Amino acid sequence: MEDKYFAPGMPENEKDDHIVSAVALKGHVKAVAIRTTAMVEEMRKIHDTSPVVTAALGRFMTGSLLIAENIKGEKDTQTTVIRADGPIGGMTCVCDSKGHARCYALNNNVEASYHKPGKLNVGEAVGKGTLTVIRDLGLKEPFNGTVELMSGEIAEDFTYYLASSEQTPSVVALGVQVGPEGVLNAGGMMIQLMPGYTEEDIDYVEERANGGFPEITFLMEEGFSPAKILDLFLGDPEIEYLSGAPVSYRCTCSKERMSAGIAALGKDEIRSLSEDEKGIDAECHFCNKKYHFTSEEILSLL
Ligand SMILES: [Zn+2]
Repeated sequence: MEDKYFAPGMPENEKDDHIVSAVALKGHVKAVAIRTTAMVEEMRKIHDTSPVVTAALGRFMTGSLLIAENIKGEKDTQTTVIRADGPIGGMTCVCDSKGHARCYALNNNVEASYHKPGKLNVGEAVGKGTLTVIRDLGLKEPFNGTVELMSGEIAEDFTYYLASSEQTPSVVALGVQVGPEGVLNAGGMMIQLMPGYTEEDIDYVEERANGGFPEITFLMEEGFSPAKILDLFLGDPEIEYLSGAPVSYRCTCSKERMSAGIAALGKDEIRSLSEDEKGIDAECHFCNKKYHFTSEEILSLL
């Protein structure tokens, strides 16, 4: 029965990108899994990323959506930033509370090296640096947490962030499988221990995480949906699927937002931009859309 793997809010077709959350082990474990194949492919096309950047930025966007799963307010947003010294140069991702994400890397064209044949060395392309998570939940001050990168392989970095900055012991797994024509599979999983967890719960989750659990993209290749991946990992017949939602790549830029960005540059910068009689084209980092501003329009921002 397919119904067993259904959560309220999930798209009808389980092959569409979506996120699913569940609880198991007597409510001591929260589990979230996501399929992002189509949106990572869309990202690859927008930014024309080389394979190792597709993997790095795809994992980063997928992990960002996983940790944004608990932001619910209409206007809440989460911005994740990796600043690092590898050839990618850094990455930024913005998620909202409705399953939309947009992202970019500073360098889209990085030559790949490999851990072993077929296994892209993402850590080397990302390098050493920090992961910052900024949550704007409509409060006076946005929440802000920064940790050192563990390996630059992204999943470990999110795991470390959750443990040290949010005091939530977690397991994060992420995968992006890049083929010659584009993204074949992309997705991830996040398992978190909830207040009230026991030593046994820790042992159980650790054992499953370290016991050769297959890679996410392998399971996806085998036809596992996010809900089935959680079921396989937790092995708890009492697993309860709480909610699901479609996820997609979406940019929210507009000429208005672009002008706010230019207005923030400062008077001297704005004056010098206005000197070009032909005006300027401002390009959105997230979707590459260009917005034209005449020199009069630029001056009016002063
Ligand atoms: Zn845009």
